[in-house]
Amino acid sequence: METKIEVKNLFKIFGPNPQRALEQIKQGKTKEDIYAETDLTVGVQNANFEIQTGEIFVVMGLSGSGKSTIVRMLNRLIEPTAGQVIVDGKDVTAMGPEELVKFRLHNMSMVFQSFALMPHLTVLENAAFGLQLAKESKETQRKRAMEALEQVGLTGWEDAYPNQLSGGMQQRVGLARGLAVDPDILLMDEAFSALDPLIRTEMQDELLKLQEEDRRTIVFISHDLDEALRIGDRIAIMEGGRVVQVGSPEEILQNPADDYVRAFFRGVDPTNVISAGDIVRDTHPTLVVTKQGSLRTAHELLSSSERDYLYILDARRRFLGVVSSEALRRTLESGKADQPLSQAFIEGARQVNMNESMQEILPEVASNSWPVPVVDDNNVYKGIVSKNRFLKTLHRTEAQMEENGQNHRLAVEEQQMEENANV
Ligand code: ADP
Ligand code: MG
Repeated sequence: METKIEVKNLFKIFGPNPQRALEQIKQGKTKEDIYAETDLTVGVQNANFEIQTGEIFVVMGLSGSGKSTIVRMLNRLIEPTAGQVIVDGKDVTAMGPEELVKFRLHNMSMVFQSFALMPHLTVLENAAFGLQLAKESKETQRKRAMEALEQVGLTGWEDAYPNQLSGGMQQRVGLARGLAVDPDILLMDEAFSALDPLIRTEMQDELLKLQEEDRRTIVFISHDLDEALRIGDRIAIMEGGRVVQVGSPEEILQNPADDYVRAFFRGVDPTNVISAGDIVRDTHPTLVVTKQGSLRTAHELLSSSERDYLYILDARRRFLGVVSSEALRRTLESGKADQPLSQAFIEGARQVNMNESMQEILPEVASNSWPVPVVDDNNVYKGIVSKNRFLKTLHRTEAQMEENGQNHRLAVEEQQMEENANV
């Protein structure tokens, strides 16, 4: 992965003579102390993190924790008090006014919660707004704005005015305006927060779909954990101007930095967040077969590995099937060694996708005696999830769950799994 944005020792102090507060922060004074003594507000203090190319990076935290301040410093809509923002290796904090204007027009787009549409402009004109600022030709403006509107599903609405649209549609226009300039970085400040829950989920899906078609680096601010978990590749959690933790949802869930972070995750069921890909292990023997593969080779491989199951892959490591040592032995003993290997495949042995959650793969893991094979989107084999591994992961998150008061539910599931495993 390549680093797109690097934030280094970044501070924002609101008020006159902000340097005074920097001194006090160094002395270890809190945001409250500083405000009481100086009237200065600590917006962001000493933020350090990196955002990777093509990821959706969610900044999450309570109201006033510094989320908006931090993203606005990325394009210097808010001028940092100290520190650096490096984008594509270039120091944004050192850019002169002209360079900065260009950078904002071409490299970063911002989508706001309030949509910020111009009421007297049509949908098309609104979508073209950034292009107009960038002084693109009328023709280019029209063409790219139309494309962007199509991407967000608003074809046919070009000539309507914002007040003729629902909230969700207005936010689509806001998104189209951001996309029309084709930025590699999209900054979205609570962009979906004002929408009804259903429309909101729809917009999240829309964003994920757009991301699949054309991957951008997205910095997405949210105060909503469900949203963060749904769309975030990684999450930064802010409290009182500080970035208290950065990590994937799984990492944060399994190892929260402090009580504040833990409080955010209260009520979250880890089996919804942790995916098959997070717990997959490559512990079992595999056999790559080109044409038919031989029963005897399979049998020898299994005997020498002292495992009960062998996973059969094609030449491109795509999953074909599972065979058990017992079935192999039976087939060989009955003198059918010439049969194709596929004859010995366990019927109904299903592979799961690495993106499926533990919750989703639970039935598969619980109801079969063989470890469940895990594949990627191209059906390429990644390894297996065994019952043992599944239960261990549950145990590890159990302490966490206890604090979250959900222990009971998991215990029931776990018991069911053990019962299933014993039949
Ligand atoms: P969030 O987006 O997480 O709700 P903000 O980044 O807007 O938080 O605000 C962080 C802190 O900075 C808050 O204490 C807020 O009151 C303060 N703040 C934000 N903007 C200004 C400003 N222009 N002047 C003074 N204080 C501000
Ligand atoms: Mg905000």
